[in-house]
Amino acid sequence: NTEENIFSEQIELNNYKLIEKIGEGAFSKVYRGIPLESSFVAKQYKQVAIKVIKKDILTVEDNEPMEINGERHGSSKTSTREQVLKEVALHKQVSPGCKNIVQFIDFQETPSYYYIIQELLNGGEIFNEIVKLTYLSEDLTRHIAKQLGNAIKHLHSMGVVHRDIKPENLLFNSIEFLPSIQPRKFRKSDDPNSKADEGIFIPGIGGGGIGIVKLADFGLSKQIYQTNTKTPCGTVGYTAPEVVKDEMYSMKVDMWGIGCVLYTMLCGFPPFYDDKINILTEKISRGEYTFLQPWWDEISDGAKRCVSKLLEVDPLLRYDIDEFLNDPWLNQYDCEIKEKT
Ligand code: ADP
Ligand code: MG
Repeated sequence: NTEENIFSEQIELNNYKLIEKIGEGAFSKVYRGIPLESSFVAKQYKQVAIKVIKKDILTVEDNEPMEINGERHGSSKTSTREQVLKEVALHKQVSPGCKNIVQFIDFQETPSYYYIIQELLNGGEIFNEIVKLTYLSEDLTRHIAKQLGNAIKHLHSMGVVHRDIKPENLLFNSIEFLPSIQPRKFRKSDDPNSKADEGIFIPGIGGGGIGIVKLADFGLSKQIYQTNTKTPCGTVGYTAPEVVKDEMYSMKVDMWGIGCVLYTMLCGFPPFYDDKINILTEKISRGEYTFLQPWWDEISDGAKRCVSKLLEVDPLLRYDIDEFLNDPWLNQYDCEIKEKT
């Protein structure tokens, strides 16, 4: 099976040894790895994370038109290879100089696999697990949201849109400072037998925190414009206004993502949910969410206002990254959390 293949193939992976699986995504498995002593990476990193993508599992359908010499052509199929190389190129470009983005280290490929070598974060899957089980204090939420905002600011200023902001793609570097956990006050479901909604509350006090939060996974990222010229990529000035607008709007996709993560951290469940995908889609397109009682009762108006500025259906009215970073709630002094840097 695949797992065995990866280990039998590791002989082809130069300079690193795969140790154990630490995470999984839709198209990849992520392993903890050790750089071999002889490699230059070993000087800087004791351990690394290695994202392994199997070749030719599928062809990613790219719905966006392809550009050739500034002209847009109909929908095209992008091969996994092009997709992976794009992810690597973008990750490599954006990761230096931002402490809230997972650092890119190296890329390798063998006949059957691609390997994206990155800085290892101990709290890999854990953030996602926490968010599934519990909700966070406003201070802890703010501490995380600021760092996510910082990562997005870095990306957007380089003309890059992440497009896949969700708890699974947020990693953090230390969990030894996790503060005490308290039982949740309310159940999300009225069914007394349901265990699914039993949550815990992480207040984030007593010097506790989550350390540094980093954004990972550039698999769906896209470069909208070149930083130096601010002109849309691959065009020569004949771009139609609606295309330029689309490209500007697409940055707002990330802001919506931040809004969903923020909402979820504060109350412990996502803003939009339905078992039926078509109903869910309908709810999202109308921006149909509520600050559900009693879970939101004790959450401040400032936090609610910030969430609602992000979950604004009209991209023009939705916060951009600078407006978010200047939000009054986000800038309240969080005395409870000692920022560990
Ligand atoms: P995919 O593109 O398949 O979603 P990701 O890059 O999101 O792959 O990685 C999948 C999972 O692996 C993540 O959700 C996370 O739990 C874990 N992971 C990814 N990168 C790292 C890393 N640098 N350190 C620790 N865990 C990671
Ligand atoms: Mg992912």
